[in-house]
Amino acid sequence: MKLLLSIAPVLFLLNPSSVAGQGFVYPVGNPDQRPTHILPSANSYRITRDFMETNQLHTGVDLENGVEGGQVRSIGPGSVSLRLDTASSKGFGNVVMIRHDLPDGTFYSVYAHLQDGSVAVNIGDHVDARTPIGSVDCTGHTESTSGTTCPSNNGPGPHLHFAVKRTAILGCAYLARCNSGEVAADYVNPLDFIESHLSAAFPLLGTDMPSISGEFAIASYQFIAQQFTLTQAVQVTTINLQMSGFGTDQFTVWVTNSIGPGTTLSNVLLQKNLTFPNTGGGINGQTVSAATNLSLNPGTYFLIVSATQTLVTQGWITSTTVLPSTVGSVSDQAFSTFSSRGSTNTLFPPASIFSTPAEFRTAFQIFGVPLQ
Ligand SMILES: [Zn+2]
Repeated sequence: MKLLLSIAPVLFLLNPSSVAGQGFVYPVGNPDQRPTHILPSANSYRITRDFMETNQLHTGVDLENGVEGGQVRSIGPGSVSLRLDTASSKGFGNVVMIRHDLPDGTFYSVYAHLQDGSVAVNIGDHVDARTPIGSVDCTGHTESTSGTTCPSNNGPGPHLHFAVKRTAILGCAYLARCNSGEVAADYVNPLDFIESHLSAAFPLLGTDMPSISGEFAIASYQFIAQQFTLTQAVQVTTINLQMSGFGTDQFTVWVTNSIGPGTTLSNVLLQKNLTFPNTGGGINGQTVSAATNLSLNPGTYFLIVSATQTLVTQGWITSTTVLPSTVGSVSDQAFSTFSSRGSTNTLFPPASIFSTPAEFRTAFQIFGVPLQ
């Protein structure tokens, strides 16, 4: 919503061990087998309390195998968005929440009742599927369904409370017992979520997608170009942009292999009109998605955003973290240009004279598959 740029601290977080295209896994037991209600099972953990259990509206599933200390792992790639201890988590005990940016939206996975001293990740850490984050235990308000106690803290019923939700706040373990403002629609069945994302696409290239950060205004007189480089050919299926703003403003996203004078329509590889969803008010951090079917060879490209209206209150949020990638790199230089105030992008923005690049980058993610 701000019309001037503010620059967030730049932090690179590169993780060369990340594997493009890996799928989601289950958080305890066998990572590739869904837990069931009875043991023995292929997973080795059983469901002792279901998702949205009658009356209490339990926001996740409880998974246990009768003992404390089992490894808890991240279900997929993401960044740690929250870590609280028993004293501050209101019943969740030691709890970790991880943000996952996916083609179908942003989701948060929650891992609660972790063992004291076991939590192995911190806020801001990038994690992959299978990254260990802690151990199963009884911290917080656990209840016994098995009669088992935890020798480490004398609590009943060691288990993992595991939830997947669409909102960034920790919320409640039972919607019927609290008034956090959350509703059942903020949550999804976490085991169904994993099953439907076993072969999920992950960003081939891009950045984190902050909710609050700096931003580049794309008011109708400004065009922003973010440079990126591919070292491997890719088939792009989705481009996500992280925007902020008001109302239902319309803008255009372009992919070109050139910017500046001399750029022609032959340099335009994608041109797509998009609409910022009407939120009824200002919002920081809204993912706007462009589906495509675009093959790109190794080379240097520009992702350009420009407005199609004469009055626009939109910004392209800046990023603090580049995601690990095996197919290329994101430049920390974004270019901007202005046309006459009040004009729209009918003047073919890619051919405009762009500024000397500013040393930061805008938030975007490119999904697809690498081509051999
Ligand atoms: Zn639970």
